[in-house]
Amino acid sequence: MNLHKLAKTFLVDQGRHFRLKDFDPTDTGHWRSKEHAEEALQQGIARTAELQDKLYAQDRWALLLIFQAMDAAGKDGIIKHVMSGVNPQGCQVFSFKAPSDLELQHDFLWRTTCCLPERGHIGIFNRSYYEEVLVVRVHPQILKNQKTPDSLTGKNIWEQRFEDIRGFERHMARSGTVIRKFFLHVSKGEQKQRFVARLEEPEKHWKFSAADIRERQFWDDYQKVYEDMIANTASAHAPWYVVPADNKWFTRLVVSTVIVDTLESLKLDYPKVDAAKRKELAAARKSLMKQ
Ligand code: ATP
Ligand code: MG
Repeated sequence: MNLHKLAKTFLVDQGRHFRLKDFDPTDTGHWRSKEHAEEALQQGIARTAELQDKLYAQDRWALLLIFQAMDAAGKDGIIKHVMSGVNPQGCQVFSFKAPSDLELQHDFLWRTTCCLPERGHIGIFNRSYYEEVLVVRVHPQILKNQKTPDSLTGKNIWEQRFEDIRGFERHMARSGTVIRKFFLHVSKGEQKQRFVARLEEPEKHWKFSAADIRERQFWDDYQKVYEDMIANTASAHAPWYVVPADNKWFTRLVVSTVIVDTLESLKLDYPKVDAAKRKELAAARKSLMKQ
């Protein structure tokens, strides 16, 4: 299958009429098995490494990849597999948990802004400022604890946050940061299977958290706020990809394909060497040969 087409299948670049139920977490497109997809994934990983090298050398664009999902949807595994070939020097991963006291002293975009990738780099956000319209919306108490003046946290707060996020992302895009956002769309049934595996398999015990089971009770609320988030923040310059996440091998293939597709679209190349530089290189070569 044409991989460019695969990347586009799950693209949401404008929010009007977006419905989460139109996307099936079990979808695997035309791909029937892990083995089938594995070869394409390995090629994608190798291609990402080549393109990252050019991104770094060119030093103009930055790439920001944002991952959001329900627990156990596979964010960590995706980051580990899909980025396995890239040079760590040009790539940084940040995981955002509940904010610290210092972070709560600032506006809600502050802590992530400090972690944005510099030119030539790939930045990965494992959760992000989008938690501010997800977990914070599902649990109003979190908003109350945020220290924002009461008069600024009225019923328009979510609309205002969407507006601020849209403005922020537009600003980043205009400065040369390419943003791609992934919602790993796992089903409730598959999440249960993965939690059960964490309880039953000793080498997965460390991943288990009772808090995850508590959050699962808010499943429907989360689906609603995810839908609203995507509908309000999908744009051509910072699109969402709603990636089916019940089959990890397929999720990885799609994410890898989107990353390659995005980097290809930048028409990256090594910086051109001008006549003066060529002269310098020739002189250096001559001098080295004489030694
Ligand atoms: P994993 O469970 O795979 O290790 P995780 O990303 O779920 O990774 P946890 O430490 O389990 O990491 O959870 C982080 C928690 O922090 C999540 O429940 C998330 O909703 C919460 N969180 C993230 N950002 C915020 C925020 N701005 N305000 C409140 N809670 C937040
Ligand atoms: Mg967790």
